[in-house]
Amino acid sequence: MLELTTPVQYVKGIGPKLAEILAAKGITTVGDLLNHLPFRYEDRLNPRGIAELRAGEMATVIGEVRNSGLFRTRRMPIFQLTVGQGRSRLKCLWFNATYLQDKFKPGQLIALYGKVEQDSRSGELQIMQPQFEMLGEADGADDKAAVSLEVGRIVPIYESAGQGRVTARWFRRVIRTALDDLTPDLPETIPAAVRERLALVSPREALWNVHWPEAGESFEALQSSRTPAHIRLIFEELFFTELGLELKRRQQKAQTGIAFKLDDRVRQAIKKILPFHPTPAQKKVLKEIADDMQQPHPMRRLLQGDVGSGKTIIGFQAAIIAIENGYQVALMAPTEILAQQHYFSARKILENAGYRIVLLTGSLEADRKREIRRHIAQGNAQLIIGTHALLEEKVEFAKPGLVIVDEQHRFGVLQRLKLMKKSGDGGDGRSKTVLTESESETSDKNPAEPDVLVMTATPIPRTLALTLYGDLDLSVLDELPPGRTPIVTRRITDDRSPEVWDFVRKQVAKGHQAYVVYPVIAENEESELKAAIKMYRELSSKVFSDLKVGLLHGRLDSDLKDQVMRMFQKGELQILVATTVIEVGVDVPNATVMVIEHAERFGLAQLHQLRGRIGRGAAKSFCILMTGGKVTEEGERRLDAMVRTNDGFQIAELDLELRGPGEFFGTRQAGMPNFRVANLIRDRQLLELAKREAAAVVAGPNSEVTQIEISRALVAMRTRWQHTYGLVEVG
Ligand code: ADP
Ligand code: MG
Repeated sequence: MLELTTPVQYVKGIGPKLAEILAAKGITTVGDLLNHLPFRYEDRLNPRGIAELRAGEMATVIGEVRNSGLFRTRRMPIFQLTVGQGRSRLKCLWFNATYLQDKFKPGQLIALYGKVEQDSRSGELQIMQPQFEMLGEADGADDKAAVSLEVGRIVPIYESAGQGRVTARWFRRVIRTALDDLTPDLPETIPAAVRERLALVSPREALWNVHWPEAGESFEALQSSRTPAHIRLIFEELFFTELGLELKRRQQKAQTGIAFKLDDRVRQAIKKILPFHPTPAQKKVLKEIADDMQQPHPMRRLLQGDVGSGKTIIGFQAAIIAIENGYQVALMAPTEILAQQHYFSARKILENAGYRIVLLTGSLEADRKREIRRHIAQGNAQLIIGTHALLEEKVEFAKPGLVIVDEQHRFGVLQRLKLMKKSGDGGDGRSKTVLTESESETSDKNPAEPDVLVMTATPIPRTLALTLYGDLDLSVLDELPPGRTPIVTRRITDDRSPEVWDFVRKQVAKGHQAYVVYPVIAENEESELKAAIKMYRELSSKVFSDLKVGLLHGRLDSDLKDQVMRMFQKGELQILVATTVIEVGVDVPNATVMVIEHAERFGLAQLHQLRGRIGRGAAKSFCILMTGGKVTEEGERRLDAMVRTNDGFQIAELDLELRGPGEFFGTRQAGMPNFRVANLIRDRQLLELAKREAAAVVAGPNSEVTQIEISRALVAMRTRWQHTYGLVEVG
């Protein structure tokens, strides 16, 4: 009998070679194999008669090979296959498919799946490049039972693996064998009350039916993964993910943190620095943060607010709470430019009030760095601003109280990051705390964990926030500071650039400033992309020769970057030609124009971030998306979205849809769980449900959920987390 945890080699028909191929696909146990779900199904119970096909439909056809052959056109070889059912015939064509040449023999039974089209000349129906599967092939391995898996029913179609060695057909047989040999009593790990409330089918029934649907199952439901079997498996995966996150959250909350005091003196200090009246949203969020900070447990909070919503000042206010309580604050930004900008505004806003602020970035000279580190280690520096070099260089803090991470999406996973770790003995008998990326547990020598506030402008779609950041509390800044007028966004092809430059000139004449952004730094030979450097030359010497134009890109040394940025901030430059280095955080309210060349090359989130650099003051702002050359269909959708809406959440949702969760944060490594059966876009509602149910279970035993059920669920969760996140640090 097979258990779900049995290694996959023990399934009949899987030898070491095949096991290796499967392992590369992440399939090592029987459970993995059974969770390799069909990506679609073919209705071979009611396959279509050739005579009843209509142009435009997707159809499965089962027929007999009549003849086949390769013919060459001037442009490419085309392989043609004719299948028949009685007297009807259907033509199938594959382009460039010389490899099919000797594949088919007349009389073979074959299943085809593809889109039916009408040949424009002959008017006949045909299928171009159909997927196909030989049925009842004479390869010796076939017996009657195997053939019955292929026809006369709804058949699961799997993604093949190992360069096609492991075909859909192979999966079908092996999965069938595994199901036949599967232990009859699979443990149920979802608590009974939850299972009943949601009417979930048993694990065994789910696994059988998802691969071999019972007669009468709705074909629609199968194709859209909405059969009871699918729902059970998807819910299960999401439920255990959420359970893990909930648990992590609870544990974090249970740790000892710093209970900051918020008395009148501190309140006064917070108020004193405010250069403007905070918006109601800012007040609400600050209250959430301040409430957290007063708790004797560490804060783990994500502050989400669209570009320009005014997160910085909230960060500063939180910093004051910590500093006034005698603690140090680290503020980390993803780029040097941004760190520098924070440093300038911190000095402007906080230094008068007497706070001691330092900037520590990678590019400082070694001497200077050493000095700053000493200030930090001795506790002189109260607010330490830097890039994530603060993590890498293991800076020692005398008394860290709060870590603020700005624009978190640039960092990758923070969730996995243990921010604080004791570095043992600092030599002077005192242990020091460093920021580190280490995953090892915090030692309990000094158990007070600093608070962490993560700020991001990426409006994270709720589904992602629930999974990726499920262990953080969420604050949302859902209101822009007053007096902003919505940004006007227009698309224009780059042959009309003279008009664009005229427009920029007019805005500058009104005293405003403009950004012109390019996707690459230097022109490279193969692409015709206009590069920032080249265009800087052209714009500064020709188009805007009478204006002050600056250039900013990532390869400039940091002093120069700094200087350029400062000049633009002071209005000494009117036009800033830049790459995406200005994408995050840069704040120059007087800039009202953002021209983005080759806008079709940028991702949606990136375009939105770039656009966020303008519309920061009271004057009307304009974002001009210039396109050069052909725009892909996906590119069109991105640009459309930009023109249609300024709403970061809408844009994020679409971005997620276009790119998929794995790419949403840049890379797979960004910490997205590797779901086996769930799909965050398709399964949003199930995720919400899973979150609710998991929270209820974590809340402890009650009349519904017993202690035994909880322990069982927790064990199941750990195994899954190992799988999904590759590490077990929960529970
Ligand atoms: P982001 O959320 O993108 O980090 P910032 O904190 O940089 O936004 O704020 C954007 C701009 O809005 C800054 O110029 C800031 O000074 C200004 N600002 C923030 N809050 C307010 C407010 N309540 N009233 C007026 N201006 C504000
Ligand atoms: Mg910001």
